[in-house]
Amino acid sequence: MKLTFLGAAGTVTGSKTVLDVGDQRIMVDCGLFQGLKELRLRNWERLPGAATIDRVLLTHAHLDHSGYLPLLLRQGFAGKIYCTPPTKELLRILLLDFARLSAEDARLANRLGFSRHKKAEPLYRQEDVIKTLRRVEVLSPDAWHQFGPGVKVRLRENGHIVGSVFAEFHSDRHRIVFSGDLGRRHPLLLRPPKVPPRADAVVLESTYGDRNHPHARPEDELEKVILRTWKRGGRLLIPVFAVGRSQDVLYLLSRLKSAGRIPDIPIYLDSPMAIEVSEVSCRYLEWQKLERKEARAMFAGVRLVHSARESQSLRRKGKPAIVLAGSGMATGGRILSHFEDCLPDPRHTILLVGYQAPGTRGRLMLDGCPEIKLHGMHFPVRAEIAQIGSLSAHADREELLHWLGAIGGSPKVYLNHGEPQATDSLRLAIRDRLGLEVELARPGRLG
Ligand SMILES: [Zn+2]
Repeated sequence: MKLTFLGAAGTVTGSKTVLDVGDQRIMVDCGLFQGLKELRLRNWERLPGAATIDRVLLTHAHLDHSGYLPLLLRQGFAGKIYCTPPTKELLRILLLDFARLSAEDARLANRLGFSRHKKAEPLYRQEDVIKTLRRVEVLSPDAWHQFGPGVKVRLRENGHIVGSVFAEFHSDRHRIVFSGDLGRRHPLLLRPPKVPPRADAVVLESTYGDRNHPHARPEDELEKVILRTWKRGGRLLIPVFAVGRSQDVLYLLSRLKSAGRIPDIPIYLDSPMAIEVSEVSCRYLEWQKLERKEARAMFAGVRLVHSARESQSLRRKGKPAIVLAGSGMATGGRILSHFEDCLPDPRHTILLVGYQAPGTRGRLMLDGCPEIKLHGMHFPVRAEIAQIGSLSAHADREELLHWLGAIGGSPKVYLNHGEPQATDSLRLAIRDRLGLEVELARPGRLG
């Protein structure tokens, strides 16, 4: 058995791990690098050995775990892509959206002459996505599936987003687990992560390996931010990931409203993708602990903003409101136009509710950056910048240790998907508290 880390080694994005087991070469996740420009440029590099991969298994649909797939096909990958039923539906939405944004960026770069040396091209196009989606096959969770002679795989819920799983591979000689992005011990809408009974090796994410999330209840924190913004007559802008955070925030807002804890402020979901994703997650309630009537209540009273024109007219109104829009780390999307109106005005609040990777506007704001560049212009940051850490979709340090510690068989641990400080801090804790052998994922190449 051999592991090769082609991404998410020393960083949180670009998850791509190749497992050679038996005569099979299996890639677990196939993600894009995101965040800092030097990382994003790596998406354009060739991936030697792409044609030698037999199959890809996705732990979930987020682009940093799936967004490289069309490029893998372009470089000769000829196998099938396996995932759970909700992941397949979310994958279609996320990949098509990424291809559209990538085409828009290329058009803009060519129009404004950003790319001086040659014509800017999108990373991939809609046609590439369609070809990719034809390769996808769904696997039911909790059952063993044969992956070629002598290798079988089982997918089990891990509490991160709808359809997300960890993967257990068993061969005659080895049992290895890939955690995927591990969710919280008590997620808001999903069931808690299951635990693999035994393993010889575990590939574990370490996003929050050096930190614990605050214990405050997210709805209490959200209530406070809403009330103080409302008193100032301001708007509350919440950059959200279309998958996961949008639904969590809408659920909390519906609870606060029905309990009479917040005034009747208009709520807008200004993201066609988040609207589509919310529809998908409502179709898969069996993957969640949410009941149908709670799911209905989440969307009652939320104004869905589909077209760009409706989004413009929402901006012009300028009245107090709660606006959820993509993208979650403020790297693009409609939230940027709302920022133009709100950032320079201290009445308004920008509320960050998810992980903010280095180099993103979300991280710059958290770090107290006095101005932010939007659409080529600089805007002063005078609005309140707030954060709710307890809404994270990732397990924190204690939760990672708890999940790992419950796996039998004293597995060897490989830590990936974390910034170096987080990963190293978790390495020491695993060694000292659980007594397990730990290795840090290092970037490799396929032989
Ligand atoms: Zn994820």
